[in-house]
Amino acid sequence: MNASGKKQYIAEIIRRLKQRYSSEMKTRLDHSTGWQLLVATMLSAQAMDSTVNKATHSLFKAYKTPKDFSRLKPTQLYKFTRSIGLYRAKSRNIIKSARMLAEQYNSKVPKSINELTRLPGVGRKTANVVLANAYGINEGIAIDTHCITVSNRLGVVRTKNPEKIEQALMEITPRKEWGNITHLFIALGRDVCTARAKLCERCVLNDICPSSTVKVVK
Ligand code: SF4
Repeated sequence: MNASGKKQYIAEIIRRLKQRYSSEMKTRLDHSTGWQLLVATMLSAQAMDSTVNKATHSLFKAYKTPKDFSRLKPTQLYKFTRSIGLYRAKSRNIIKSARMLAEQYNSKVPKSINELTRLPGVGRKTANVVLANAYGINEGIAIDTHCITVSNRLGVVRTKNPEKIEQALMEITPRKEWGNITHLFIALGRDVCTARAKLCERCVLNDICPSSTVKVVK
């Protein structure tokens, strides 16, 4: 498939997924500020969004700004985060990031990938989630495990490398859809295109996907 064919293909995928999953086009992580979304996203690596939301519900009532978090000892944060996998390392990174923001950014969350990824424990995926969902900035595409599975099965890429997948998707996807495509691929991955099973008979892409198990009569 040439570049323009790929662009048409991804446009059709997005159109159908929007029809099917429009209600899923935002993060499920509860937050009301960019800093809260940054904390929640850092905690969410390899953890359920619902587990993170339970923890942050009381955490965000107790502490609000990067300045508040910068004064915490790790053990004070563990009290809230201990139900989440890898909570010690994640909590320490949150406090270190809060200190950096308090000291260098006047307690404001920066709005670029380069600056966000300088914070301890913040990679491109987390930076993209925060930029797109808290600020509506599409600087890149957040790639999680669902996005890796789905983009390979759809034949958009043949790699598990998140940065290569992000680059390939950015080349064929209109910029205004960069934030949406993450949510749409996650919704598809949770619903019918899971790592364990492909429920192609229920998938809205089953007549155009090269990995579909549904036979299409032409
Ligand atoms: S048709 Fe099957 S393999 Fe393709 S995206 Fe849908 S569920 Fe996944």
